Amino acid sequence: MEEDKSLNFIEQIVEQDLQEGKNDKRIQTRFPPEPNGYLHIGHVKAICMDFGIAEKYNGVCNLRFDDTNPVKEDTEYVDSIQHDIHWLGFRWGNIYYASDYFQQLYDLAIRFIKEGKAYVDEQTAEQIAEQKGTPTEPGVASPYRDRPIEENLQLFEAMQRGEIEDGKMVLRAKIDMANPNMHFRDPIMYRIITTHPHHRTGRQWNVYPMYDFAHGQSDYFEGVTHSICTLEFVVHRPLYDYFIDQFAGDNFCGLSPYGKDYRPHQYEFNRLNITYTVMSKRKMLQLVKEGLVAGWDDPRMPTVCGLRRRGYTAQAIREFINKIGYTKVEGMIDLGLLEHTIRESLKNTAPRLCAIFDPVRLIITNYEGNGETISAENIDGVPELGTRQMPFGKELYIERGDFLEEADKNFYRLSPNGREVRLKSAYIIQATGCDKDENGNITTVYATYDPTSKSGTEGGNRKTKATINWVEKNSCIDVEARLYDRLFKVENPSAEEGDFRELLNPDSLKVVNCKAEQSLNEYMHPVQMIDGIAQVKHFQLLKQGYFVIDPDTDDRHLVLNRTASLKDNWQK
Ligand code: ATP
Ligand code: MG
Repeated sequence: MEEDKSLNFIEQIVEQDLQEGKNDKRIQTRFPPEPNGYLHIGHVKAICMDFGIAEKYNGVCNLRFDDTNPVKEDTEYVDSIQHDIHWLGFRWGNIYYASDYFQQLYDLAIRFIKEGKAYVDEQTAEQIAEQKGTPTEPGVASPYRDRPIEENLQLFEAMQRGEIEDGKMVLRAKIDMANPNMHFRDPIMYRIITTHPHHRTGRQWNVYPMYDFAHGQSDYFEGVTHSICTLEFVVHRPLYDYFIDQFAGDNFCGLSPYGKDYRPHQYEFNRLNITYTVMSKRKMLQLVKEGLVAGWDDPRMPTVCGLRRRGYTAQAIREFINKIGYTKVEGMIDLGLLEHTIRESLKNTAPRLCAIFDPVRLIITNYEGNGETISAENIDGVPELGTRQMPFGKELYIERGDFLEEADKNFYRLSPNGREVRLKSAYIIQATGCDKDENGNITTVYATYDPTSKSGTEGGNRKTKATINWVEKNSCIDVEARLYDRLFKVENPSAEEGDFRELLNPDSLKVVNCKAEQSLNEYMHPVQMIDGIAQVKHFQLLKQGYFVIDPDTDDRHLVLNRTASLKDNWQK
């Protein structure tokens, strides 16, 4: 990976903090996913930052599941998130769960109520939203805002005992309904959820803390120093500090793990948005649930598991994140850059072999050999990458498009016009004619070969204007190649009005049945596992792109995913 030329703005802050001796020179970050979906490449940007800072500055990055909403969360997601981070090559210090702090957070909420800083509101979510005001007009106070402390306590405890129906009451912080920062206008601290058990605490809790009342506290309880997130949280930062200020400091009551009042600070960078896709777990879940994609790991999805199945490597994904960098302005990244990155990384490493996508039979009429094999370099001109043996014979398959019965002078491939064409790594042939079916479709092409023209022999140096791909008919294997295109038709589906599902690209998956050379079998061997990570073999199919074997493959049916085509239209 390329060495960083300069520090990103968060690294600069960290270095400054270290110089000033802040937090006793301790660096602690966290990656805080909500286990309500699979990780996507946007998360990877956050992961590279959170884990990257800890690695670079000898700190620790913990994984914290932000599991405060049992309605959407599941252990399936907890497991997949751990696997994906591990696959990306990062190692966490500890695993924490926001739900580990439910008791402390509840106790803090009680303390807030007792100090007159929180009240139970019985209005609906809509009413509360209506009263919020606008950035220039103050909000309207809830009629429940001045409820006596004792009543608030009793009601909140009743909420927790499960005596109040979901949605009927919330606990709100009593801050300032006129604050220019809308997040200070009596934000909701707790809501009731009785309908779903929590994946870890089961039925123990009937009230659950909101993000703003859980995140900063969790950071504090763990001793996080740099709490890094995305720009939409800039406006939450004062509230993040406010809630911590209410309990930390002189009377931090032993909630800090170091017995010391280390204050976490929140820093924000720009989210990753990529063209022609969506990066919202809610929308991705909808695509999965409605069967509009084959699952979270559909190779068209921007999820880590989707990209992995597609054939993206952890290294290429991290290189991409490194290239785009971190700023404080939102923007959109061209999907072409991601594709460019994987192409670059596979270009000189993925062995090449041949598959014919639209096969037509070729008979070499004067060929009398038997059991001949052709030795072909895995990558032309790179002997270090080895060679493979290609069976050769009288009957081959070639691409239908490589033959024209009547060709003009600009067509250099096969045509019965006396022109010589080389079969890649093998002999020079000349077409002599063809057979057609009743519809005029060509069924067989006939040719003669020059036995002295074999590549790698003395006669093999003769130049032809064209070289074509081929596979030997009896030894080749039938494979299903899945070719992917962008998932959405429009550049920014999230910015469009209406139903995002109608913007799906109907041609995002094309299935082609093709004939591949025998050596593809070598890629089928059971995948080697190292440290729980499958070691995927990448290969190039000549003229078609980079591919991997798909897990849908079984003994009788070989399925390939195209990771990327060969054509790179990425312009710097
Ligand atoms: P979504 O909106 O898809 O549900 P989220 O932000 O709610 O995403 P979390 O699980 O809460 O998902 O995210 C965990 C971390 O990943 C957060 O710190 C968040 O800021 C970061 N993150 C999420 N999406 C992106 C993105 N597109 N680019 C960079 N960081 C992201
Ligand atoms: Mg979130």
